[in-house]
Amino acid sequence: MTGRPDLTADAELQALRSELGALRERERRMALALEGSGTGVWDRDIPANQIHYSRAWKAMLGYADHEISNQLSESYKRVHPDDLAYVQATMKAHADGTTEIYEVEHRLRCKDGNYKWVHSRGKVMERDAHGNALRMVGTTTDITALRGLSETLQQTVDLLTFLTDEVPGLVFCYQDDADGRGFFTYVSAGVRDIYELEPQQALRDPAAIQRVIHPEDIPRYRESRARSASTLAPWRLDFRVLLPRQGLGWRQLDARPQRLEDGTMVWRGFITDVTERKRIEAELQLSATTDDLTQLPNRRYFMDQLGAELARMKRDGDGSAAVLMCDLDYFKTINDQWGHAIGDLGLQHFAAMLRQQLRATDVAGRMGGEEFAVLLRRCGAEAAMNFARRLQRALAASPLLVGDQKVVLTVSVGIANLHASDDDASLALNRSDEALYRAKKGGRNRVECHQ
Ligand code: GH3
Ligand code: MG
Ligand code: MG
Repeated sequence: MTGRPDLTADAELQALRSELGALRERERRMALALEGSGTGVWDRDIPANQIHYSRAWKAMLGYADHEISNQLSESYKRVHPDDLAYVQATMKAHADGTTEIYEVEHRLRCKDGNYKWVHSRGKVMERDAHGNALRMVGTTTDITALRGLSETLQQTVDLLTFLTDEVPGLVFCYQDDADGRGFFTYVSAGVRDIYELEPQQALRDPAAIQRVIHPEDIPRYRESRARSASTLAPWRLDFRVLLPRQGLGWRQLDARPQRLEDGTMVWRGFITDVTERKRIEAELQLSATTDDLTQLPNRRYFMDQLGAELARMKRDGDGSAAVLMCDLDYFKTINDQWGHAIGDLGLQHFAAMLRQQLRATDVAGRMGGEEFAVLLRRCGAEAAMNFARRLQRALAASPLLVGDQKVVLTVSVGIANLHASDDDASLALNRSDEALYRAKKGGRNRVECHQ
């Protein structure tokens, strides 16, 4: 014993005892702390093929202190067969000195036969003169609950990703930065169909969106977004895209806005492909406004245009417009002589002749049967008269040809002016009808103006 010269043997013993007591107390606290943390300690004697486990280590697997031996061979039997090779290889790598620390996640069998996920860390503490590992010490922590939590989280993420990727269209989060340049912060896989972009290309890049939206629709796109930001009403918009593969298409955007505390605007919503719906709508619109046989506007569409022109004249307080009623002469006889099918061709032939005479601003419509009406915008009576005469001459010069036979068509025309003072556009139509009646009465193939 190396004594301290200033102490008697008794006092020295006393000092040693209290040091030992303090050490034991520290060890007890350490053991309690480890036990409380669900962490067990192990201490492996490599040459002896033995391993010592702390009480907490054994308790973690449901064993009492005396129920686990120190034999390494026994300890390997508790490792899940699928994990054993990996655990042994990692252990060897560290013992050989190729890794700084031994660290693994694997499964251990409990006393009740169930497996627990554990995280083990350890380090070689002693080596012999040749560098062979002699002693290794480490800890083992139960991470079963943590793994379960992260598995549940992963499942939730997988489900969300699956759902957003499977719904038709693009599910997104979109953000407006301080400069008002918008970009996506999240896109589902649907971005490949909707914008023909890879998800990575579409993220955090304002230019990527600019490239795919039809240039003419970009102002509307920005305005609708700004309106949603200022009113916090949903951002809804139908707009066109121009894509390398699909070409021109229609998209519908529907998103909810949210203003974050720092003032950033965020939208969450989806974009769907409405190209087919737009095509059907356009077709329906066309068939609702067009006469099937002649492809000219039908009566309803013509009357709408006439009404709109009257409204414009009232608003602007200027201009004149002419309304012409055209009725094919003796058409009943044409049908009787040539048959109804040739009569139809006659109607189509007349419609084509009429169309040729129109300026871009004029509108002609089939009012029914063999009656057609024409609206000549910004046109006086004389110019209207000239128009009607030209039409008659064109019809005379190009009869309908049926084989080598000519079907001569003539038309009677009544002309009236549309006045800004008219209460209703149909009044002008009635006046031109009156003029038409006089043209018929006067012998047909004539033009008459309403007086
Ligand atoms: P008018 O010179 O007085 O106008 O004599 P019209 O025979 O042309 O007049 P009317 O009103 O007596 O007869 C119109 C004819 O137009 C009767 C009808 O069979 C024919 N018609 C109406 N719609 C069609 C159509 O879609 N196809 C064909 N082929 N004929 C039609
Ligand atoms: Mg008629
Ligand atoms: Mg007729």
